[in-house]
Amino acid sequence: MQNKTMSSEKYKEILYTIPKTEIHLHLEGMASVDTIWSLINKHNLKIPGIKNRDDIIKRFQVSNLNDFIDLFLNVIQNCYREEKDLVLQMDDARSYLKRNNIIYAEIFFAPSKFLMNGFSFETMMKYLDDGANRIKKEDGIEIRFLIDVSRSFGPENALNNLNLIIKHKKNSIIGIGLGGAESKGPAQDYKEVFRIAKDAGLRVVAHAGEDVGPESIWASINDLGVSRIGHGISAIQDKKLMNYLRETQLPLEICPMSNIFTKKYVSSYKDHPIREFYDHGIYVTVNTDDPTIFGMELIDEYFNLLDNDIFTLTEVFDLIKNNLYATFLTAPEKDKLWEKMEKVINKYK
Ligand SMILES: [Zn+2]
Repeated sequence: MQNKTMSSEKYKEILYTIPKTEIHLHLEGMASVDTIWSLINKHNLKIPGIKNRDDIIKRFQVSNLNDFIDLFLNVIQNCYREEKDLVLQMDDARSYLKRNNIIYAEIFFAPSKFLMNGFSFETMMKYLDDGANRIKKEDGIEIRFLIDVSRSFGPENALNNLNLIIKHKKNSIIGIGLGGAESKGPAQDYKEVFRIAKDAGLRVVAHAGEDVGPESIWASINDLGVSRIGHGISAIQDKKLMNYLRETQLPLEICPMSNIFTKKYVSSYKDHPIREFYDHGIYVTVNTDDPTIFGMELIDEYFNLLDNDIFTLTEVFDLIKNNLYATFLTAPEKDKLWEKMEKVINKYK
């Protein structure tokens, strides 16, 4: 490791000490094994292949995006049987954010499966909103939600989700995201949903170029008018798109370990295009996607980029700053947080 001028512990300590933000993070992706196991017991659930706590740990070892979506929808989300169970989920989120010294997070919440299980959108959002307020009050951590309208269940379901968001407007909900199975739901199908969302003053983002080629990223830009791209790693195949991303500075929410886990385009840090994006002048941010599922938290993500000699510590500071300035906070709010972060960063420069 060229960066090895300090011990791994020292690097991790520095990465912990700096207050950070995260913008690509799924609420259920912060679920702990203990929460899932306690919900299975609480509701006496029979989930195929899961008889004990160790089976959950094994099930978390996914090797492609569709396995991951199956785990997400059929195991994790399936364990939540009443809206109140989301309190445990918010507690897991709080633990994750505190462990990584994340002071502001924009978190995806995917309500479709819960709505199909009979949950009320309004009650769910009340638990999430109350949780976010409690975390703000007790820990000083700010949380905003982006509702994942999902490609997995079609445009009609997405429109239904959007209507619920508009009807039950909460301050903590700032926008929508398009997640789910990228190969099954082309962005073009969601054009109308995204137009209505923007007209309603919501921010819009989309997962794209995670499991499908650059055409999916172009469609998210041209048809959905997104403000950020989730992943975007297949952009590396399209020089014109690389140049477009550099010129527009449209942020990419890169989640290196998630891409390595799902193995669509990369299988190691060395294959990951993050460095090429950065060198090309593209706006790059680093995120975890689903930290407890992948066993890879935000500090680990930054540390691994150092440990694999992909970025220097000074460049990691730059990535931490990029993440803050790609949030949907207002410019004065960003500057205020940056002041706090820079004070710590300057100690290590
Ligand atoms: Zn994601």
